[in-house]
Amino acid sequence: MKYLTEFRNGEVAQRIAREIHQVATRPWKIMEVCGGQTHSIIRNGIDQMIPAGIEMIHGPGCPVCVTPLNLIDKALAIASQPGVIFCSFGDMLRVPGTDRDLFQVKGNGGDVRVVYSPLDAVELAVRNPDKQVVFFGVGFETTAPANAMSVHLAKRRGLKNFSVLVSHVLVPPAIEAIMSSPGNKVQAFLAAGHVCSVMGYWEYPPITEKYRIPIVVTGFEPLDLLDGIRRAVIQLEKGEYRVENAYERIVSFAGNLPAQQLLSEVFEVADRAWRGIGVIPKSGWRLSAPYREFDAEERFQISGIHTEESPLCKSGDVLRGAIKPAECPAFGKECTPRHPLGATMVSSEGACAAYFNYGRFLSAEDLAHAGAALTGVANG
Ligand code: SF4
Repeated sequence: MKYLTEFRNGEVAQRIAREIHQVATRPWKIMEVCGGQTHSIIRNGIDQMIPAGIEMIHGPGCPVCVTPLNLIDKALAIASQPGVIFCSFGDMLRVPGTDRDLFQVKGNGGDVRVVYSPLDAVELAVRNPDKQVVFFGVGFETTAPANAMSVHLAKRRGLKNFSVLVSHVLVPPAIEAIMSSPGNKVQAFLAAGHVCSVMGYWEYPPITEKYRIPIVVTGFEPLDLLDGIRRAVIQLEKGEYRVENAYERIVSFAGNLPAQQLLSEVFEVADRAWRGIGVIPKSGWRLSAPYREFDAEERFQISGIHTEESPLCKSGDVLRGAIKPAECPAFGKECTPRHPLGATMVSSEGACAAYFNYGRFLSAEDLAHAGAALTGVANG
């Protein structure tokens, strides 16, 4: 428990917050890239400890949230096929596709299973040679090494009944896309510490140079986040822009080299669609040619899917940092964790779920409504 208590010390948090108040002379807009950081900021009230003028903008860093609807619809179509065992992490089961979710496919007789590791899916394939086992491989650079390892292992074992529906996205191109977007408001980034634990932060200095923007590699505990904000504000106030590593206990400049080697063997960089954002060039991975036989999209050749986003859902605006979740008209009304309209309300890293679960941003009327919905969740 040492690391947890050490980075949750209230007195130290107050001291860092006071320092931020002393340093900040102007309003600044800082984006935390990762949804895990968003939850920690809201849960710990960090946005309320810092000066009112420093706005935390919530970035697109939730793997479930950015998986495009079309791919979720493909997952639903594959999972519905007879003879398929469809494996996913739990969050994905409740993400709405155009007209249903994986839970409903399961309820209708589909063999949909929650796994805790892609390697479990490989084992399922070994034990069920008469079935096609498909793993939904979503995520940023953080989860990609385990998914790459599962494909590597399947190839080594000569499995013909294992495949991965790949939806891997990469953080640096997303930062560039946000900085290049016409209405961009972001003036500094807190980079996601767990992504950097795999990839290091050697990709970031050219971005800080190109956009003249501070990037601080930041962890997830309250003191990590306050320290990341403090460092970003100091740079902004001085007019500096460079990469700083505020997560040295986990992250090195070079990152995890064996993991990066495995990733570059199993995957190749490709253009990727991000839900609510659109296609970002070279922002994702797909299986490389030697491993393409394990690509579920190639194996199942699903076509003719009709994909339609909920007209009520503003998750694209939330993911771009253009609006806060509570500014969505459906927030806490038509859309709750029990009846989510968008992935940002479903995912444990989703910004809408963070705002809803910690409920500080609702009107009294909305709080009563949300309270009823939460009771429903607790009883559900
Ligand atoms: S509150 Fe619900 S409907 Fe609104 S953006 Fe978030 S997920 Fe979409």
